[in-house]
Amino acid sequence: MSIETVVAPLAGRQARPEGTIVCAGGVEIGGPAVVVFAGPCAVEDEAQILSAARAVKAAGARVLRGGAYKPRTSPYTFPGLKEDGLRLLALARAATGLPVVTEVMDARHLEQVMASADILQVGSRNMQNFTLLDEIGTCRMPVLLKRGMSATLEEYLLAAEHVMKGGNQQVILCERGIRTFEPSTRNTLDLNAVPMLKRHTHLPVIVDPSHGTGLAWMVPAMAKAAVAAGADGLLIEVHGDPSRALSDGPQALTFEEFGSTMAAISAVAAAIGRSLS
Ligand code: PEP
Ligand code: MN
Repeated sequence: MSIETVVAPLAGRQARPEGTIVCAGGVEIGGPAVVVFAGPCAVEDEAQILSAARAVKAAGARVLRGGAYKPRTSPYTFPGLKEDGLRLLALARAATGLPVVTEVMDARHLEQVMASADILQVGSRNMQNFTLLDEIGTCRMPVLLKRGMSATLEEYLLAAEHVMKGGNQQVILCERGIRTFEPSTRNTLDLNAVPMLKRHTHLPVIVDPSHGTGLAWMVPAMAKAAVAAGADGLLIEVHGDPSRALSDGPQALTFEEFGSTMAAISAVAAAIGRSLS
């Protein structure tokens, strides 16, 4: 089976041939503009998230990211600030006006996450957590559904279908790299997914070059490539001091690097008749 033959009456392109625009906190994702979501991997403290929020906004990001509940491979690494992280995200939202995307790992946390978020993130590790998808399907809040690290595009589209079948049509897809035999990068960013998904679904498709490469120096090149390939947005990790980040420091851009990356992305967007706002 491949995405060519998938049965997805709600997520499939035929359901809305003109494409879907998801609106979150006044920002339209899936429209003419390329929307950049940026911020740290994890919320670490008030000064960190506030300075990152202000820096990414100044550089042109439209959505603030930051994990409060962090899925970590090792249980001995930073798990996120949890409720306190959500409180700090709400503070950063109030300070900057940027809508917030943050991960929900467990249906039991949905209510508290929704109180501080404008977009619910379902992480790669939970793409096929069907009880979580079904629960999110009953919510009326946009969802950023990340591709499972070993998920085919058919499985990915069907995960979106699970959310939509519950009644929540506001799904944004995010290619974040897949597992391959190549060890030089954390993941292999599958940019094939962008035109393939755009052909087979009406949902907006964004790209995460941070997790897709795991290497900050590669992020600008792959961000530009993603926009050229037709992505509706980008998810980029940014940290005031990546060397001291509590998670994913090696793939985080500094504020300065993020600023120059935004200028480069803007030029690529203009070349294909799009803009960053
Ligand atoms: C993240 O966005 O920080 C994250 C954990 O991403 P993923 O689920 O794609 O690994
Ligand atoms: Mn991360």
